[in-house]
Amino acid sequence: MIEHVLQAIRERHRFVVTSHARPDGDGIGSALACGQILRLMGKEADVVMHDGIPRIYQGLPFADRAIHADFVPPSDAVILLECDSIKRTSLEGIDSCFLINIDHHLSGRNFAHINWIDSSVMATAELVYRLARLACVPVDRDIATCLYTALMTDTGSFMFEGTDEHTFTVARELVLAGADPAQCARQIYFGHSTAKMRLLGAALSNLHREGPLAWIWVTREHMERFGAREEDCEGLVNYALSMADVQVAVFFREQADGRYRVSLRSKGAVDVSVVAEHFGGGGHKCASGCSMEGPLAIAVSRLVERLRAEPVVLLSD
Ligand code: 5GP
Repeated sequence: MIEHVLQAIRERHRFVVTSHARPDGDGIGSALACGQILRLMGKEADVVMHDGIPRIYQGLPFADRAIHADFVPPSDAVILLECDSIKRTSLEGIDSCFLINIDHHLSGRNFAHINWIDSSVMATAELVYRLARLACVPVDRDIATCLYTALMTDTGSFMFEGTDEHTFTVARELVLAGADPAQCARQIYFGHSTAKMRLLGAALSNLHREGPLAWIWVTREHMERFGAREEDCEGLVNYALSMADVQVAVFFREQADGRYRVSLRSKGAVDVSVVAEHFGGGGHKCASGCSMEGPLAIAVSRLVERLRAEPVVLLSD
């Protein structure tokens, strides 16, 4: 399938590269790298993100060229990274474009004209890296920095289930190409806003624990009180997962429309993608998400009820 993607790129000139709304490190790092790879292939490429580039990723190479917009500018093709549908981009005008879908989610879908979905890799960044290699585009320090950051964040700093020798081989190649691991880590893990830390405090003061399950939440009122942005919510769920004997952690955050975004994380004994899919979302075995109707108490009870049916949770009773 990679050959089809490369062929489709070679036949076209003007590209838009995008990822899902509220993009994470893999969505951003892969998109910024992919845009530059296309430029080095002699193409025109705009990286367009519905929600822009979150603050902690703004120091990445090419981030200052990314376009924050609600719609796709004219192009010969749109490359969607990490999306299981057109809708996940939140961009308007995308339906009528020629679409190339590159994804590594097990829940990935064949919604585009060309679909390259490989769930054996830990990050879409690896697919973008393979594409550069096949296209004979030299992976320089800047591209390697974007791809390494994507791989580092999507593997939870090389800690998530599935991280193996191959993951480190790719990481090694990116470091050899010029990525600086300490610098990449510093920018992401030591670049938080004060608002995010205050939000974390509020979330942890709402910590609920039931055997191997833990959940935390924040409301709009918390967000407003601390001046926090949506992006400040990223990663908070990991603090709930970090407790001994917790197998699954869930983070609920209230949205402007009263619905709740839900982030699920697992240490591996529970496949949380199945749980997220049950509520219309998706993701990976150890990291997935969905949206739920409020009020909070109902969303929590529906989700916790579903998790209680998992064998590992039942056994802990
Ligand atoms: P997060 O909790 O960081 O928002 O998402 C974790 C993982 O689940 C990411 O890989 C993300 O793409 C996926 N995910 C989150 N929300 C949704 C959703 O509503 N639908 C699908 N299909 N995947 C989601």
